[in-house]
Amino acid sequence: MMIDPFGRTISYVRVSVTDRCDFRCVYCMAENMTFLPKKDLLSLEELDRLCSAFIDLGVKKLRLTGGEPLVRRNIMSLFQSLSRHLDAGSLEELSLTTNGSQLQRYAEELRKCGVRRVNVSLDTLDPTRFRGITRWGRYEAVMEGIAAAKAAGLHVKINMVALKGVNEDEFDRMIAWCGAEGFDLTLIETMPLGDIDGDRTDQYLPLSMVRARLGARWTMTDLPDRTGGPARYVRVQETGGRLGFITPLTHNFCESCNRVRVTCTGKMYMCLGQEDEADLCTPLRASEGDELIRQAILDGISRKPEGHDFVIDRRHNRPAVKRHMSVTGG
Ligand code: SAM
Repeated sequence: MMIDPFGRTISYVRVSVTDRCDFRCVYCMAENMTFLPKKDLLSLEELDRLCSAFIDLGVKKLRLTGGEPLVRRNIMSLFQSLSRHLDAGSLEELSLTTNGSQLQRYAEELRKCGVRRVNVSLDTLDPTRFRGITRWGRYEAVMEGIAAAKAAGLHVKINMVALKGVNEDEFDRMIAWCGAEGFDLTLIETMPLGDIDGDRTDQYLPLSMVRARLGARWTMTDLPDRTGGPARYVRVQETGGRLGFITPLTHNFCESCNRVRVTCTGKMYMCLGQEDEADLCTPLRASEGDELIRQAILDGISRKPEGHDFVIDRRHNRPAVKRHMSVTGG
């Protein structure tokens, strides 16, 4: 079992399978990003070994993310091989976070690999605005992808980053749409991760304010649901839908953090907002057995920090960490 210095059991791993993405969302990346050379990436077999070592150590929930996980070549073979842990009962949930652009192609296959839920990032329901936010994204493809996920029987959660002056007039519409479609919705504060072309202070919208505003239109009842993550949920009475708030800036919930993140080069980050990392690639490649990799994971967990300390204001107008979310895995 993995227990960190603050007594938190680590049961959830997010693995970024590629740093590449087919979108360039304005709050996530600069338009001209330099991605890792492909040779630096762990192979799909190595990713499988790494994930399996985590599962052996007690991980129950595994999420593949990126970059955009579904643009990694042959990624379905990784889902397929990891599904053996679902069949064996050692893994409870295999899921992914995606921008939806490839979902139409893969939704059915994902379902066959035991995936039951998918998080789709969608910041707007306006095609023109969508283009402005994602720079390179195709709105129609994403909507078709979401429809395909629904048709395949996947439970969809929409992730919407709250952006001041960009999509703040769309929360009501998104809540109504998600309610009608039967999707959960989570609103997310922008976090100071990596350099982007613009100024994050201009984008940052505290969700404490948003929640107060939403209260004028919607009847929201607090839910006790906890995922060990930073989200807090309410039920929206008018739609029956579940609405989450991820508030790393206005309120962090690090005390119940149950997760670590692994990059596509095999670095483990024990906290999204701290620099400390553990190299899992060297021990993975040093031996065919799992002893070294297990030890490296446990050493990293023994250094998991208490939490992050994000601030976005004029005085702290630089990233908390240099890595973009696409590197650490959102
Ligand atoms: N490409 C996939 C996607 O779009 O969902 C997975 C990776 S993406 C980095 C994961 C999530 O992180 C997305 O919901 C995205 O909106 C969010 N994200 C990226 N940068 C962020 C930032 N600086 N602050 C808050 N959320 C961010």
